[in-house]
Amino acid sequence: MDDGGGGRLEVIAGPMFAGKTEELVRRVHRARIARRGVLVVGHALDTRSGPGRVASHSGLELPSRSVRSAQEVPGLVEAGTELVAVDEAQFFGPELVDVVTALADAGLVVVVAGLSVTFDGRPFAPLPALMAVAESVTKLTAVCAVCGRDAAFHVRLGGVRAGRPGGDADALAPAAGHVGGTESYEARCRRHRAG
Ligand code: ADP
Ligand code: MG
Repeated sequence: MDDGGGGRLEVIAGPMFAGKTEELVRRVHRARIARRGVLVVGHALDTRSGPGRVASHSGLELPSRSVRSAQEVPGLVEAGTELVAVDEAQFFGPELVDVVTALADAGLVVVVAGLSVTFDGRPFAPLPALMAVAESVTKLTAVCAVCGRDAAFHVRLGGVRAGRPGGDADALAPAAGHVGGTESYEARCRRHRAG
């Protein structure tokens, strides 16, 4: 770490299928080409990609460290670490804001990717707060599964959706907003997000 002058926070936000993980992987690859020390962090709750890797829907993968809380991240930073990449930020809860702020203050480049919106179209913490304090925000859209327009939202199909209209505790629980059991998700534009 240096005196903090080179530190910055870069946020990659959007709905599911927007290419957030692909963009995170691209930035990590560029940092590795530049011979920067890179730490990639995922959350243990992200059962889709499995422990020890972050993975995109298109099959890109990176080895990663899996943690159960934001507070574990600083302990993984080593002497040569210059860039910290965190995927699926919505799993980490509001504590992630202070943790990545401290890392950026200490001179690290921190790239954080995550869902900025729940399946019922609400802001998904902590992405809004992270976006507010970042040097750079990349807001990506997916492709609407119905009409092909830009999709800033995703919806949950099947599963337990019918019993919980409007998203109650589901929307608040970090895991429930993203990792499905039997349910699945589709990217939707503004017009097609409701039905
Ligand atoms: P995110 O991390 O934002 O969920 P990923 O980086 O994992 O997104 O995956 C993006 C990839 O998902 C795209 O490059 C494309 O191959 C695939 N994909 C599947 N469905 C869609 C969709 N509806 N819109 C955009 N990309 C999609
Ligand atoms: Mg992703």
